[in-house]
Amino acid sequence: MSDQEIPLSRPDITELEEQAVLSVLRSGRLSIGPVVEQFESMVTQRCGTRFGVGVSSGTTGLHLVMHAMGIKPGDEVITTPFSFIASANCILYVGATPVFVDIDPRTLNMDPAQVERAITPRTRAILAVETFGNPAMMEQYASIAARHEITLIEDCCEALGCSFRGRPAGSFGRVGVFGFYPNKQITTGEGGMIVTDDERLADMCRSLRNQGRPTGKADGAVQGSAGSWLRHQRLGYNARMSEVQAALGVAQMTRLDEIIRARNQVADLYMRRLAGNCDLIMPTIDPGVAMSWFVFVVRLATGFTLEERDRVIRAMRNHDVGAADYFPCIHLQPFYRERFGFQPGAFPIAESVSQRTIALPFHNRLNEREVDLVAQTLELMLTRENLKRG
Ligand SMILES: *Cc1c(COP(=O)(O)O)cnc(C)c1O
Repeated sequence: MSDQEIPLSRPDITELEEQAVLSVLRSGRLSIGPVVEQFESMVTQRCGTRFGVGVSSGTTGLHLVMHAMGIKPGDEVITTPFSFIASANCILYVGATPVFVDIDPRTLNMDPAQVERAITPRTRAILAVETFGNPAMMEQYASIAARHEITLIEDCCEALGCSFRGRPAGSFGRVGVFGFYPNKQITTGEGGMIVTDDERLADMCRSLRNQGRPTGKADGAVQGSAGSWLRHQRLGYNARMSEVQAALGVAQMTRLDEIIRARNQVADLYMRRLAGNCDLIMPTIDPGVAMSWFVFVVRLATGFTLEERDRVIRAMRNHDVGAADYFPCIHLQPFYRERFGFQPGAFPIAESVSQRTIALPFHNRLNEREVDLVAQTLELMLTRENLKRG
């Protein structure tokens, strides 16, 4: 994170979190214990799934899920180019092929019609992201997946606590993955969680998380056999979440509603303050959507160039106000271009949007005065850009 006066993001840590961590430290049990289980049950209760598997990061969670589902070289997985790199990298980890489709310019999530068109006999899954905490169209991806008998995987790393018509993020897909990096709605420092109703899949993820040790349904009779600590049923990883991380998570989960409410209020302040500016496109929230704001991203009006946008971001940073270009398109990242030969123009909507987005400072404690200062700074830089063009 930055040392800016108004940083892009900041975790919300109170005495409750400090006490929870301290109590784990004093317990002497720092890994594989009851607090991870408690955190798992709190998250699953919230997102309405039966099982939760705490892991060391969101990225690791996605990797284990791809592995556990048996996705392999030759398989295709449909996903969005407008996201954090991890949502596509996990497909590469298992040797499968990411098939990008363009986004809907309002919700910034994948265009369902394009998802359907991208399905081939090799398609194994749709990997959908609730971009910036917006669950719009998740139901449509679920019904497309069901119709074509493929799996919906939910990268809900940006979406803890959001819902569509009352249905929470994490419950749309056969499996979902949350992330708890410090800029997310809640944090465990580093951490993630796999959520699913599928007991077999959950058990497989538990085994993969823990060095391939046998667990539950994935291993039938082996379960509980003596000496199972040093029995390794399959090639596994160390992807465990520690008790210390989970303690942070438990404390944060007890405050989740308060945190989401605070973030909603900050988003409302930005909306009210900036909605009248014709150089800016504000986020659109469809009916039925209950946001859980991950970041607050405005877009410059069509006509602004990438260079102008980048200049605005740099100038804001020089004025001690955090700002960022969430997200550069994944397919245009150097190693994706090199490996797959993507050229600019491949996904015009995602590219056009991504060249004009600016993530503004966004965290729970931002007050009206600070929002106003951010808005003033942004408006000043836009005025400058407009003057330059004459
Ligand atoms: C944050 C995030 C992840 C996971 O990030 P980690 O830092 O590994 O926890 C994955 N996908 C998306 C879309 C994210 O925003």
